[in-house]
Formats: sequence, structure tokens, C-alpha cells
Amino acid sequence: PILSSTRTQNRPDHAHDVLMLVTDVSEWRRLEHMRSEFVANVSHELKTPIAAIRGFAETLLDEEEEAIGETAPAEGANNSMRQKFLRTIYDESIRMGNLVQDLLELSKLEATDSRVEPISVDLQSIVDRAFERVRHTATARHIELRLEHVPRVNVWADPDMLLQVFLNLLANAIHYSPEGSMVTVTWDVLIDRVKVHVRDNGSGIPKESLNRVFERFYRVEKHRSRASGGTGLGLAIVKHIVSALGGEVGVDSVEGEGSDFWFTLSRLDTNIVNLPFGIK
Ligand code: ADP
Repeated sequence: PILSSTRTQNRPDHAHDVLMLVTDVSEWRRLEHMRSEFVANVSHELKTPIAAIRGFAETLLDEEEEAIGETAPAEGANNSMRQKFLRTIYDESIRMGNLVQDLLELSKLEATDSRVEPISVDLQSIVDRAFERVRHTATARHIELRLEHVPRVNVWADPDMLLQVFLNLLANAIHYSPEGSMVTVTWDVLIDRVKVHVRDNGSGIPKESLNRVFERFYRVEKHRSRASGGTGLGLAIVKHIVSALGGEVGVDSVEGEGSDFWFTLSRLDTNIVNLPFGIK
């Protein structure tokens, strides 16, 4: 009887341990799968510009060598082609640089996730800074940047991280909008939070892609976004930052009409709640 009672007592613990182990193994497998998928994506993203740079540089070098062998070097005729190749080499190296910068940003965020030290930040001052930074790109496309009439409010955030969120959302809004349109920033002040919107009247996002755009390297139109220099990491960075600040992020969009990217932050200048999300 003693033995059997020990056995019955032990069995649930043992089963629990096995279950924990199985859960650990499947969690480990899931993370391992995510990691290798990420490495595969990064390699693919880097391979394309490297192949272009190498190909065009080789052609230019061959040309140089042929010209050296000739008595009268063929000037002029090849100049425009050479210019085109150099332009591609330059553009592709910029794209690689952006990708590496975004990758570093993501890994920095992952490493500092738990060490974010938010402070009270005047939301409008960050929007003003972000507008200054993207104004040149917007003006080049005749896109008006507008901060809708909103009450001034302080939020719980890291100013540089919050600036990055606005820069990424505004860059997309400008990029995916037609010339001459308007990009608007506005926010709703709720009891304990602020819901910020970055709205555009651009291409919009098809329904089936709405819950995927925040994934790393997900693009609605793979070719268009990549060809225009996008890294496919901008929204993943936005999601990471907003989550680290305790907020939520999302998008409402109608294809062909425009998008409304929104995120929430804790409000600080309130008597009701004076703490970030999750701390009650
Ligand atoms: P990318 O560098 O490709 O812009 P992001 O992570 O910033 O990468 O965005 C992911 C995808 O979401 C984009 O490729 C695009 O298809 C879509 N997207 C993002 N912002 C907008 C927007 N404002 N309007 C339409 N589509 C957008």
C-alpha cells in the first residue's frame, strides 16, 4: 500500500515534468525554426543587392580592360550605360546599408527589451521632430504633412524610440501615397492611454495582408517595395518598440483608399492612472 500510494503521488509530478519537457522542446523547436527562417530571409535579402553590385561592377571592369587594349578608347558612346550601372551599384549599396541598419536596430531592441526606461514625453514635440526629418521626402512628392488639431498630451515613452516609430510610419505613408495627397497625424486622448493615428490616402492594404504587415520581411507587393529601397523591417521595428513601451499597434485600411496605422501609449498627465500598462 505504501508503494502504491507513493506511486500515485509521484505519477502526476512525473507526468508534469514530462509535459514541461515536451513543451520546452516544442518551444525550442519553434524558436529554432523562427531563427533559421530569419537567417534565410536575411541571406536572401542581402544576396539580391550583392548579385546586382557584383554583376554591374564586373561589366564596368571588363569595359575598362577592353578600353585599355584599344588604340583609341571608345569615349562617349558608353558613358550613359556606365552612368546607369554606377547608379545601380550606388542604389543597391544604399539598400544594403539600410537593411543592415534596420537589422541592427531590431537586434538592439531585442537585447534591451526589458531595459526600456520610459520618461514623460510631450507627444507633439516628437511629431514636430519627425515631420522635420521627413519633410524633404514629402515635399519632393508634393505630399502635405498635417498634424490635426489635437490636445497636447504627455505620454510614457523613450523619446528616441518614439521618434523612430513616427519616422517609420511616416516614411511608409509618404511612400505608398500618390503625389499631391495628404498624410495626417492625430490622436485620441482616452482615460489612461493615447491612441495615435498616422493616416494616408495611399494604395491601402488588401484585407488578407492586414494582420501580416507587421511581420519581418512581409511585403504586400514584394517586388515594388524591395525595388524602391524598402527593407521590409520598418513595421516589425514599430511593433517591437510599441510593445516594449507597453502599447498596442494595428492598422485599418481599405485597398485603393488609404491606411490608418495606429498605436497606443500610456498617458501620464492624468490623475486617474499614472502608470504604464500592466502596472496597476
Ligand atoms: P517596407 O520596407 O517594405 O516598407 P515595412 O515593414 O515598413 O517594410 O512594411 C511592410 C509592408 O506593408 C510594405 O511592403 C507594404 O506592402 C505595406 N505597407 C506599409 N505601410 C503602408 C502604407 N502606409 N500603405 C500601404 N501599404 C503599406
